[in-house]
Amino acid sequence: MKPLVEVQRSVLASVWRLEKLAVPIARARGLVLADDVAAPHDVPPFANSAMDGYAVQAGDTQPAPSELTVIEDVAAGHVADREVVTGTAIKIMTGAPLPPGADAVVRVEDTSQHGDRVRIEEGAVVGESVRAAGGDLAAGSLVFEAGTRLTPHHLGVLTSVGVFDPVVHRRPTVAVLSTGDEVVPAGTPLAPGKIHDSNRPQLLALLDELGVDVIDLGIVGDDAHSLRAILERGAATADVVFTSGGVSMGEYDMVKAIVSETGDVEIWRVAIKPAKPFAFGSFNGTPFFGLPGNPVSVVVAFEQFARPALLKMMGARALFRTRVSGVLETDVRTDPEKTVFLRMIADLVDNTWVARPAGGQASNQLTALARANSFAVVPVGTAGLDAGSRVDLEMFRWPETRTEEEVLNAG
Ligand code: AMP
Ligand code: MG
Repeated sequence: MKPLVEVQRSVLASVWRLEKLAVPIARARGLVLADDVAAPHDVPPFANSAMDGYAVQAGDTQPAPSELTVIEDVAAGHVADREVVTGTAIKIMTGAPLPPGADAVVRVEDTSQHGDRVRIEEGAVVGESVRAAGGDLAAGSLVFEAGTRLTPHHLGVLTSVGVFDPVVHRRPTVAVLSTGDEVVPAGTPLAPGKIHDSNRPQLLALLDELGVDVIDLGIVGDDAHSLRAILERGAATADVVFTSGGVSMGEYDMVKAIVSETGDVEIWRVAIKPAKPFAFGSFNGTPFFGLPGNPVSVVVAFEQFARPALLKMMGARALFRTRVSGVLETDVRTDPEKTVFLRMIADLVDNTWVARPAGGQASNQLTALARANSFAVVPVGTAGLDAGSRVDLEMFRWPETRTEEEVLNAG
């Protein structure tokens, strides 16, 4: 058996970043910047008011109270015609450019206006309630580094700074195929001996969540001829091909048979649990992931090998999910020869992550995975951990957990 990290190293060494291209902001979420981005202009682009109030010369408001003549009104989106000179003020709205001559804004709450005279109760200091030009980002400064995966917030920042078509790496296309005489598609009644193909919808959704394009190759039975034909089609049209099933030691494990005769594929026996059997290599020049068949093994292999590889192809700098240190609520027994991934429910209790098994841990028991939010990662050389022990938790889901009642009643 190969250690986890050795297989990860081989997989990551054989994938490459996809081409760069400029994409409109509206299509860029989840993609990764190919180059460092410098600010084309200041943000904010001009000094402006942080408050509704009066643009003044701070010196005129000291000592308080003081009275000034209002010479103009300026709303957001408009520019003052006049200059603020000693003894005058310009009424200003949040976001309007600071008029020439002014060096501070007095909040409307601290004033009262009668006709063109405004009485200012509180003295202002220079710069008060003014957002300086470039106060968020200065022109020319580094905004985001290459390798940054774009969240909605990044898209907001890029737009504010005038980058409307960021240069990113192309989105990979992944073709997904399920294998096995026993698996039938969703919607088909179950004949004796058959099960529904739960791997494909799960994988397609995981890929969709990652922001890659998918091609659904459906299901192929344990028949070498059909399998080869469909793998060839997948390899010709996609950047990456995934199969599930058919890589273990059984007589009908066709994926194993086909890829080893046609492609440059290795079958790994990885020292992890679940997901020991895993095939990886290239099929007709296209990266190929032969994921295991058991539904939980599929996800563990996806998380540890395929997802990081896809993120690397997308150009991301960070490839692996966040781990936190947690405390076990119960004893767990594990295989000392393997890195064991346990499906856990982790909760933050008094600033400590506390984790308990989410249910049955066999590789076919998908239910516990759906209830879990993390994998406890128990390293090789450990036969188990007692309740109260520290364990690394790899967080794969951060869902909403607080109900309307909890939040509203706490307030
Ligand atoms: P295999 O490696 O093909 O022998 O598959 C291992 C186990 O995973 C068997 O119990 C299969 O029935 C099951 N399995 C394989 N493919 C799927 C699938 N697409 N959906 C659900 N279970 C599957
Ligand atoms: Mg099979």
